[in-house]
Amino acid sequence: MAQAQAVEKKQMRTPIESGCPDGMQYMHPLMIKNFGNWKYHDRPRPGVLHHVAYSGDEIWTVRVGTQRQLGPYEINLLCDIVDKYGEGFVRFTIRSNLEVMVSSWDKVGPLIQAFNDAGYPVGGTGNSVTMISHTQGWLHCDIPGTDASGVVKSLMDELYEEFVKEEMPNRVHITTSCCQINCGGQGDIAINVQHTKPPKINHDLVANVCERPSVVARCPVAAIRPAIVNGKPSLEVDEKKCICCGACYPPCPPMQINDPEHSKLAIWVGGKNSNARSKPMFQKLVAAGLPNNPPRWPEVAAVVKKILYTYKKDARDWERVGDWVERIGWPRFFELTGLPFTKFHIDNWRGARNSLNASAHIRF
Ligand code: SF4
Ligand code: SF4
Repeated sequence: MAQAQAVEKKQMRTPIESGCPDGMQYMHPLMIKNFGNWKYHDRPRPGVLHHVAYSGDEIWTVRVGTQRQLGPYEINLLCDIVDKYGEGFVRFTIRSNLEVMVSSWDKVGPLIQAFNDAGYPVGGTGNSVTMISHTQGWLHCDIPGTDASGVVKSLMDELYEEFVKEEMPNRVHITTSCCQINCGGQGDIAINVQHTKPPKINHDLVANVCERPSVVARCPVAAIRPAIVNGKPSLEVDEKKCICCGACYPPCPPMQINDPEHSKLAIWVGGKNSNARSKPMFQKLVAAGLPNNPPRWPEVAAVVKKILYTYKKDARDWERVGDWVERIGWPRFFELTGLPFTKFHIDNWRGARNSLNASAHIRF
């Protein structure tokens, strides 16, 4: 019996791993050698991290800003620089900065020069505006209402100086998000899509494309009902209840909510995930209804820069944007930034008590 069990166990299928590959194999040899044994780190200049191990080994990391969506030409160009001036080891940060590790300070200067000559800035460390993070947008996702990476590129062009210098009171994380039920979009300053009209339903397609009970269950305010339209099974929306969240659009594309005119951008302020010096905070809405105006989004850039430079001027050292606003108070924030404060900034929606779907069941 025991022998049969042993044979059975031996023949068990091994799990198929399909996630990220093990990162250790791509690490710089000095990082593997000193893994978990680092004594301290500092920043000899903006864009460069210096780590010293207990063994005495030192490693320098050069952080490079990219244009986010990289094609083969850009990737080959960057890799050639890394091979020629670095030591062949790179990694991407979660904000799509490229980090290049070298074992000698002498290599840092030529490496930075080569990146700068190719048009890539070095920075994003310490008290800078690091690369703006964005959700996937049209490149990978099927429900975006705007091109998040375009907003990032055009804004980072304007904030270039704040990326290459460390002159902010503290680190600034800016995020963008291309739908309202977003997969990201929490930051010191966040630029998020804001739908302002209920979805328009293409009744000819609903029966063929949508699983109606799932769509009905998806609505957080129970605004969707099954209906028969023109003799076909479809859906209808109670527009008085609809909060224009866009949650029905992913499972049912015929409920089109994206609109070039009515899908706007909103700016939220003061979110952070870090618990250094103060606890994590949720961001709050400060500007709404900004036009979604590609390719440079000038209206959004103007508001972001107004908030950013008011923070830079008024905040104390080490205050994150949220800490600064907590200290001066929201009325003063609106006074200093000159942004209009309206009744729509006050979250007085009571509908959640009656209709918000608050059960713990997970739905797909
Ligand atoms: S924010 Fe929304 S639309 Fe954008 S990638 Fe994430 S889920 Fe998709
Ligand atoms: S947009 Fe949101 S609130 Fe409106 S019907 Fe769709 S899921 Fe419901």
